[in-house]
Amino acid sequence: MKEIITAESLLRDRGLRVTPQRQGILQIFLNDPGYHWSADQIRDRLLGQMPGLARGTTYKVLNELVNAGICEELATQDGIALYGLRLKPHHHFFCTVCHEWSDIEISGISSLTIQGHSPAASIDHIDVVIRGVCVKCSTQASKP
Ligand SMILES: [Zn+2]
Ligand SMILES: [Zn+2]
Repeated sequence: MKEIITAESLLRDRGLRVTPQRQGILQIFLNDPGYHWSADQIRDRLLGQMPGLARGTTYKVLNELVNAGICEELATQDGIALYGLRLKPHHHFFCTVCHEWSDIEISGISSLTIQGHSPAASIDHIDVVIRGVCVKCSTQASKP
């Protein structure tokens, strides 16, 4: 049986008080796991049900979710941070055509080593980004 994860139980598990803003924002991630959103996209989605949701609050809640280990923050090359669910460690595939980020799992990460001079005193975790063309974009390109 698949365990159902609710926003409320996740927040409680990680020691965060359940507030409508935290619940609403987290629910967006839970509805579409594996998708990555910008803070503005999340806010746009919620404005219907939370007309007073400020930009600052959205960022504050996202930071809280990141710090609690529920969400991840991806720094993209466009300079816009994207947020995704991070219930288990994962890596990313970035499509160079549609710029969409997808969660992927990779094996062999633990055997990676830094060659030559290492600037790292210690390593917390390794984030791998694999770039290429996604299946969706590749099928569209091959259509006449
Ligand atoms: Zn694509
Ligand atoms: Zn992700």
